[in-house]
Amino acid sequence: MKKILKNIGLVVVCGMMMLNSEAQTIDPHTKYVMVIHGGAGTIEKKYMTPQKEKAYRDALTKALEHGYKMIDEGYPAMDAVQAAVNVMEDSPLFNAGKGAVFTHEGKNELDASIMDGATLKAGAVAGITTIRNPINAARTVMEKSEHVMMVGQGADLFAQQNGCDTVSPAYFFTQERWDQLQRTIAEEEVGRAAYNYNDIRDSRIAGISPKDAKFGTVGAVALDKKGNLAAGTSTGGMTNKRFGRVGDSPIIGAGTYCNNATAGISCTGWGEYYIREVAANRVSSLIELKGLSVVDATKQVIDEIGKMGGDGGIITLNRDGQVAMEFNTSGMYRGTVDENGKITVEIYK
Ligand code: ASP
Repeated sequence: MKKILKNIGLVVVCGMMMLNSEAQTIDPHTKYVMVIHGGAGTIEKKYMTPQKEKAYRDALTKALEHGYKMIDEGYPAMDAVQAAVNVMEDSPLFNAGKGAVFTHEGKNELDASIMDGATLKAGAVAGITTIRNPINAARTVMEKSEHVMMVGQGADLFAQQNGCDTVSPAYFFTQERWDQLQRTIAEEEVGRAAYNYNDIRDSRIAGISPKDAKFGTVGAVALDKKGNLAAGTSTGGMTNKRFGRVGDSPIIGAGTYCNNATAGISCTGWGEYYIREVAANRVSSLIELKGLSVVDATKQVIDEIGKMGGDGGIITLNRDGQVAMEFNTSGMYRGTVDENGKITVEIYK
């Protein structure tokens, strides 16, 4: 135990050393064992306070530490993904679990999915309202039912019956997200071009614009000591979403995909485009059928989404420990940990 704590101490020191540099730090010769994201959007330094930036960096670092500890101790990649995602779900900073965005009616409806690269088993939930950690509910569907996806009250009930922590819907509330909804509704009512998603005025909140106030989904991909991959994604969806809207995050193949033969992939961004692109599976298919590298496949899918008019980011990790973190927005909360436990966290382009 002492050794683990010491290792984590070292990891944090290394991580802090990397934090000052915003150059893209992916090294093609390094073997990475985990990559995470905390959402992509118009995340710019000019809208960020030093305190807020530090809070994001600390939260990402903590998520990577928890994930790495699992990997280091020999647990399956699924456990590492869940551990890292749980940290971000519990943090009010991210649009997942506590701090999720609000629907038009002022509710939090949460979506999540998880996939095992060794067995191609997967689980997903959509529109749940009372499970503290939606990724745990997704894993429960995978492991304890014959199904891949459950939605709404049934999914809440199933997760509860199978031991997932429940909370009152009020648990997910944060003032920032609530204010964000009120502003979005006000803009809509004023009829500003039927709520123009390209409007990036009034960008004071958490360094993100109204457009991107919709983003902030979290995701992780891990590679365990047996060489197995797992990927997972968790989100509150998009602010002001209507009538049972479900985005890409809980859809296997769109927001999450994982196959030991290719890679594990987790997406964040404007979900409707990711669904139409079948984004996560497309990255995998480009690797499998076209022989593209992890980076080239991920870049191509982001480019295609951009051409359709969508925006966001994608993280990818394969069994060789090669990683990609691509996005067509000005920033993406993201980080990696390598096989020696060295953590790197980045925010801006
Ligand atoms: N992809 C998510 C959705 O459309 C949003 C996000 O990534 O922030 O529900």
